[in-house]
Amino acid sequence: MVLAELGTRISKAISSMGQAMIIDEKVLDGVLKEICTALLQADVNVKQVANLRNGVKKRVNIPELAAGLNKQRVIEKAVFDELCDMLDSGADPKKVELKKEKGKQHTVMFVGLQGSGKTTTCTKYAYYYKKKGWKPALVCADTYRAGAFDQLKQNATKAQIPFFGSYKETDPAVIAEQGVNRFKAEGRDLIIVDTSGRHKQEAALFEEMKQVAAAVTPDVIIFVMDGSIGQAAFDQAKAFKEAVEVGAVIITKLDGHAKGGGALSAVAATKSPIIFLGTGEHMDQFESFETKRFVQRLLG
Ligand code: GDP
Repeated sequence: MVLAELGTRISKAISSMGQAMIIDEKVLDGVLKEICTALLQADVNVKQVANLRNGVKKRVNIPELAAGLNKQRVIEKAVFDELCDMLDSGADPKKVELKKEKGKQHTVMFVGLQGSGKTTTCTKYAYYYKKKGWKPALVCADTYRAGAFDQLKQNATKAQIPFFGSYKETDPAVIAEQGVNRFKAEGRDLIIVDTSGRHKQEAALFEEMKQVAAAVTPDVIIFVMDGSIGQAAFDQAKAFKEAVEVGAVIITKLDGHAKGGGALSAVAATKSPIIFLGTGEHMDQFESFETKRFVQRLLG
């Protein structure tokens, strides 16, 4: 189920209470049943859905609610808070937020599986900061996929962002280091290193990520994940987190038919802060993520 549909279904379930003569336990159970069905269809994990249901029941004790209190609003607030809890990693996104400091040159390394949208997201990220007055630069350290450098080159050129890569060098750690050094010397304040992906999370990929990270000592490592993979998201996010020091996550492809609920809640469960969402193929289809604001928009 598309994310927007999920929000509409939850909101509809809540507003349907307005038609009930009295809001009692039975009405609440009916509403929760509809919300839980919608979440499951959006690929949220069964356990997380059960947690949300129990959490709302705990927050809303119908017999104990004072007379005259707007029960619908109380329930709505409880659902809102539980959705926020489910999507909140508990990690502090402020810790990985880039802050402009005089003389500080940030290096950010991107990791993720092939096809997750990593290269596209690197450019979106660079472009986002460019619009905020930063001086970004892109380094292609993907020597695995033929055409990776050309793709990055094309994207960077479109966004008018300097880039670095090599058609000859086969060691990604060497290219990464050369690129970062070059852009440091040129005074860029945000150096973004795109790395290779593989089709699955395999030992060779993680070994390569460790080598690149050791070569460029990034300020933060961002893990990019395809938002349409549903429940597989938890294991993938966990595997990357265990292999390298993932500081933040960007979830892509939350447009179209992505069952995004699964990815969003699964990543939060790995306790990595989600910082941006990709919502299309274009450079500006990129949004910063903040749990409360996201849930507010989801519910309309
Ligand atoms: P990489 O292999 O991880 O570097 O992935 P790419 O950046 O090459 O992206 C793979 C495909 O996903 C490309 O066709 C991108 O245009 C597409 N893509 C990336 N991000 C998004 C997104 O947020 N929404 C949609 N619809 N497509 C995306």
